[in-house]
Amino acid sequence: MFSTGLTRFTRSVAIASVAVGLSLIAAPAAHGSVVRVDPGAKAAGKPIWGTSQHLPPMMGTADYEAGPQNSQAIEDYYTTGQARRDQSAVVRRARSWITEWVADNCGGAPASCAATVVFDVDDTLLSGYPYYEGTGFTWNSGSWDAYVQSCQSPAIEPSRELFRSLKRKGFVVILLTGRSEAERSSTADCLRQRGISGWDRLIMQSPAQESLSSAMYKAQERAQLERSGLRIVASIGDQVSDMSRGHLKAGFLMPNLMYFIS
Ligand SMILES: [Mg+2]
Repeated sequence: MFSTGLTRFTRSVAIASVAVGLSLIAAPAAHGSVVRVDPGAKAAGKPIWGTSQHLPPMMGTADYEAGPQNSQAIEDYYTTGQARRDQSAVVRRARSWITEWVADNCGGAPASCAATVVFDVDDTLLSGYPYYEGTGFTWNSGSWDAYVQSCQSPAIEPSRELFRSLKRKGFVVILLTGRSEAERSSTADCLRQRGISGWDRLIMQSPAQESLSSAMYKAQERAQLERSGLRIVASIGDQVSDMSRGHLKAGFLMPNLMYFIS
């Protein structure tokens, strides 16, 4: 997942950004509320909805990982149920927004207008928390590959349920991930093991795309989907780079305190 970003990790940026982030983690009133968030020009004028956990780092331009110095606060967020409540809140907002958009633009019949929803994979449909919790919230390619190959990621249930419900209603559902083509079979197998199947396409990063930022790679792929006639109603991911640079109607930002990918 960090195949394009690892070399750009700047630890000093990571520490500074997460230190700001933790002050928000300590503000319980902000938990569970979904708000219109503003990552600046990179949103390309499209609405993005999310929880406050993303507010400090989403303005960032450099990738980071949280690192062991913040382990306790991050573990508390994920193990007390707060992460799940925030994930559920974002998914609820996405569900109602998508339903409303299709009612207004497609007479409530998504298949009639090629209405499409794009999902990211890691920390959107499949959780990387067990991996990061075990590494002190640091990433390396060897241990991550083993984690992917052995399918240790649990499903993130609220987004899995949204995926299934959109499929039933006739939406085109696309998975767009920074995982590499080399991980296609292990990724597809793991998604199916977790009860996620029937996607219309699983788009993975080709070797030629590894020099692109995640934001650029994903926006280019959405543009290509639009050229093929699909209407991208929403993109759901845990990173602003899952929904920046346009080619969608709205973005829905799942919480992720563990790392940031530009
Ligand atoms: Mg992700």
